[in-house]
Amino acid sequence: AGVAALKKLGFHAVFDMNSAADFTILEEAHEFCERLEKNENLPLFTSCCPGWVNYAKKLYPSLLKNLSSAKSPQQMFGSLINKIYGDSIGVTPPDVFVVSLVPCLAKKLELQEKDINYCVGLDIDVAITTKELASFIKYNNIDFNALEDSEFDDFFGSASGAGAIFGNTGGVMEAVLRTVNDTLSKTEQKKLDYEMVRGLDGIKRAKVKIGGREISLAVVMGLMNVPTIIEELEQDPNKYQFVEVMACEGGCIGGGGQPINPAVPRKEMLAARAKGLYAGEKRCLERKAHKNPMANKIYNEYLGGVGSELAKKMLHREFK
Ligand code: SF4
Repeated sequence: AGVAALKKLGFHAVFDMNSAADFTILEEAHEFCERLEKNENLPLFTSCCPGWVNYAKKLYPSLLKNLSSAKSPQQMFGSLINKIYGDSIGVTPPDVFVVSLVPCLAKKLELQEKDINYCVGLDIDVAITTKELASFIKYNNIDFNALEDSEFDDFFGSASGAGAIFGNTGGVMEAVLRTVNDTLSKTEQKKLDYEMVRGLDGIKRAKVKIGGREISLAVVMGLMNVPTIIEELEQDPNKYQFVEVMACEGGCIGGGGQPINPAVPRKEMLAARAKGLYAGEKRCLERKAHKNPMANKIYNEYLGGVGSELAKKMLHREFK
């Protein structure tokens, strides 16, 4: 019904942001394997949460070299829609107007960062929160409950299960590990679920065996927990190889732009949303990002492979 509502509001095409998460997962997994191989700039810190990136820029500038250069799903989507979708409909970037639907206000600031845009101007023109979209729907007298379910437009319309869990604390880590596991093992692995990185603890620590290596992980939920991990790394710089940080309780499912029901206790609401994401991802045709046919088509036909020169230009950033 969300897609139908957006079409009624006047959007020409509606795409699934989870499918952009698959590109972030693939670029980040590739980057992680490269850093492991070279043993440099470890641990790799995730960088898809702009709340965390801004905090790191201000308080831990020496850590910026450890942040993944892979752009967030929002910003990868901006580059890809402007160039690839724009080309396909014969519209050049300044005339492609891209609106993203986001969980928080930090995403509105992210799209304006100097180091993040690929095209001239902004890759994402406007970001609106889920709460704001609900207001627009009401303001335009659209009866949401009466709308038929409709599919995303197919250019970027299908995500893998890995992309679907990206918005949950631990979801980025789990999604990337699925691809890293196949890459380092050089065979297709059956392991898909990394339960040890799920749940609402402020810090989750785990070790996983992948391709004959033991990889040490930490998942940080809430910026108040970051100093603990930094202190641990000051004591032992090799303690972790991969660290996920999300600023909000629960991850993006608990973002400040998401609707809340005051009658439902917050932890209960977050647990229900997380359960919904993990149940939803099991319905996806593929659960690993590198198995997403849509992403593979775009890499083969346009980008020239994961980590290619063009992928680096379009899908990666610097931290200035
Ligand atoms: Fe925004 Fe919170 Fe998600 Fe970070 S974790 S991107 S601040 S909703």
